[in-house]
Amino acid sequence: DDPQPRRRRVLLKLSGEVFGGGKLGVDPGTVRAVAEQIAAAVDEVEIAIVVGGGNFFRGAELSLSGMDRSRADYMGMLGTVMNCLALQDFLEQAGVETRVQSAITMGQVAEAYIPRRAIRHMEKGRVVIFGAGAGLPYFSTDTVAAQRALEVHADEVLMAKSGVDGVYTADPKKDPTAIKLEHLTYDEALRRDIRVMDQTAMTMCKDNKLDMVVFGMEGEGNVTKAIRGESLGTRVTA
Ligand code: UDP
Repeated sequence: DDPQPRRRRVLLKLSGEVFGGGKLGVDPGTVRAVAEQIAAAVDEVEIAIVVGGGNFFRGAELSLSGMDRSRADYMGMLGTVMNCLALQDFLEQAGVETRVQSAITMGQVAEAYIPRRAIRHMEKGRVVIFGAGAGLPYFSTDTVAAQRALEVHADEVLMAKSGVDGVYTADPKKDPTAIKLEHLTYDEALRRDIRVMDQTAMTMCKDNKLDMVVFGMEGEGNVTKAIRGESLGTRVTA
């Protein structure tokens, strides 16, 4: 039903750490810089973004302090929406048309998640920002990134990482012999328990043969390069 997209279409996953600049809440300078990198690629590529919320709340962590897990997860999902609005603002300041779609209905600030409408937005050159995760407790925004990528027929999932520029044979911060991998299969990643994204998400990508690129945010123009499909970081395939 969705005609073959003529342009490249990507699903970019931005975790909460990208918004907080390593701290709690939103760091406007960091978000502005990411928005400008996205704006630089929007003429060539159709872009959907799944936004994390770890800079506000993580349900699993709150539940360790005694909160009900589901309620804590809803707090986590609401946090992602604040990140969406910050990103929307800086993208629009950079001249990019955007729509936020939320998996939890909140008509004043976001459209509802309607996948076919999301595709139309992208075809018109708008960046679609998906908030509130799946709208379901016990899920992660990584899993949502895989699911949304599949549903809007993205060519690949781009996992932006902070502090690391790809997948290594071991933790490069602890093991000086660790080497960066250019390519990896989901089976290897799952077998070696490599946590570049959660296992549910990797299984979903594997089963549906969806490629993922894991790359570091830090390099000059890296987000733009990843969106344009320039090779960087580590490619994970089925
Ligand atoms: N969350 C959820 N369901 C979803 C997506 C997210 O319950 O479909 C909650 C969960 O509590 C999670 C929090 O929202 O910890 C923030 O999302 P996530 O941890 O995936 O953000 P990131 O690690 O990417 O910053």
